[in-house]
Amino acid sequence: MSYTHGTYAAYGTHKCRCDQCRTYQRQRVAMSRRRRLAEGRVNHGTSSGYDDGCRCHKCRLAKSYVRSADFEKAKRKRAA
Ligand SMILES: [Zn+2]
Ligand SMILES: [Zn+2]
Repeated sequence: MSYTHGTYAAYGTHKCRCDQCRTYQRQRVAMSRRRRLAEGRVNHGTSSGYDDGCRCHKCRLAKSYVRSADFEKAKRKRAA
């Protein structure tokens, strides 16, 4: 079975993880994020909104909250 690297068929269907296919996937994710942002389909007030590239007050707050929650969790784990 042969397929062209750097396409969805290779990465998605055949689960190839060569450099070319991983680059393709990275670009695909970045593109869909940009599209969501451009279309205003970002979930504001969530860390995924921040990850999508939104830097509004709500998204920054959500991200910093997730960060500090992770930090607290790690701290508790270490103490236990
Ligand atoms: Zn590949
Ligand atoms: Zn936002």
